[in-house]
Amino acid sequence: MLDEKIEPFYDEVVRRNPGEAEYHQAVREVVDSLGPLLAKHPRFAERKILERICEPERQIIFRVPWIDDRGEVQINRGYRVEVNSALGPYKGGLRFHPSVNLGIVKFLGFEQVFKNALTGMPIGGGKGGSDFDPKGRSDDEVMRFCQSFMTELYRHIGEYTDVPAGDIGVGAREIGYLFGQYKRITNRYESGVLTGKGLEWGGALVRTEATGYGTALFAREMLAAHGRDLDGLTAVVSGSGNVAIYAIEKLQQLGATVVACSDSDGVVHDPAGIDVALLKQVKEVERARLDRYAERRDSATHRQAANIWEVPCQVALPCATQNELNGYDAKSLIDNGCTVVAEGANMPTTPEGVRAFLDAGVAFGPGKAANAGGVATSALEMQQNASRDRWTFEHTEARLDDIMTDIHRLCFETAEEFGAPGNYVIGANVAAFERVGHAMVALGLI
Ligand code: GLU
Repeated sequence: MLDEKIEPFYDEVVRRNPGEAEYHQAVREVVDSLGPLLAKHPRFAERKILERICEPERQIIFRVPWIDDRGEVQINRGYRVEVNSALGPYKGGLRFHPSVNLGIVKFLGFEQVFKNALTGMPIGGGKGGSDFDPKGRSDDEVMRFCQSFMTELYRHIGEYTDVPAGDIGVGAREIGYLFGQYKRITNRYESGVLTGKGLEWGGALVRTEATGYGTALFAREMLAAHGRDLDGLTAVVSGSGNVAIYAIEKLQQLGATVVACSDSDGVVHDPAGIDVALLKQVKEVERARLDRYAERRDSATHRQAANIWEVPCQVALPCATQNELNGYDAKSLIDNGCTVVAEGANMPTTPEGVRAFLDAGVAFGPGKAANAGGVATSALEMQQNASRDRWTFEHTEARLDDIMTDIHRLCFETAEEFGAPGNYVIGANVAAFERVGHAMVALGLI
């Protein structure tokens, strides 16, 4: 596809997928990177690789009925969008959050295809979830919901077909209930059908930590490319879920001080550095809000409805959710001296924010590269399941470190090759598209 064909192509994507703003945004960002690559590989245009990648292979929408603790019937909507399987079985998480709709799942699945390609592991891309809101729900309600969700989903997934995992609102507890129901319905202990499992029943060490650790490692690599390191730097990490917690832990292991994190109610500012053990206790054990962290720690304050991006820092890791960091926020970060941004969440920076970072020369690591450590470690979990093996923490973490270092190198070198040195957005999109595109050409028109 030539440059002048890109605009009409994008218009067609918008027309065919009405009202799906996040999906349009994700497609736009990739399409804008691809001109020189498509010129290099005329076969991609001939075979309509881009057009096919933007049309998911399969989209499943289903009803999820369940009974709450008061005996009332509840109905949610379930999704699984299987976007691309050129490189391997569909792979990607499930998100349970009231904001989930088809457009959100499609954007996440689309990003996942490229992210998974960057890992170099044999995994295609997909995503799923539900508008179910786990907040305030009892453990039994979550279990009943998960069982109903899997009662439909099981027929679409499998170790060689589609391998879901967690995302926002889906952690080891939910994966446990989902896996239990899959096992019951199919009468198969098919460990490799889901990743993010508990350590006692097929899970892998480091999977819990992997997305956050990987994002911090990507930031380390971006600094290393300029002969710098994290030691002594001040960082902020938005969010306080699984990704944020382990990004904070790894940043601090690497010598940075993380002075702020957040949830949807507000921001914790802790100039002494976030106490990760306390944060885990509040968020993972007590499942409480962040103000409880500040109540228990003298050095910390909690401010309701505050903007975390106004906290001065040199390194920023958005690890909460999509479009949480806009042009204004990017400008605040830049004005306050931030020079490195690595996305732990999926598409947390708006297009205006990305532009501001790139224009200011900030090292900006897009999510599909910077947060790929989670899904890469899911692929390592699948390897362990397939070989009925169990690796040590040290071994698995070393693999994760190598994978993140490789992804960084690939994006860095690809950006140079395509005339955009330092632009990891172009590096990631081009390198990933090239891998998927070659496989799609090889597999024929399917
Ligand atoms: N939800 C995670 C992501 O956005 C992990 C997916 C997986 O492990 O399959 O990459």
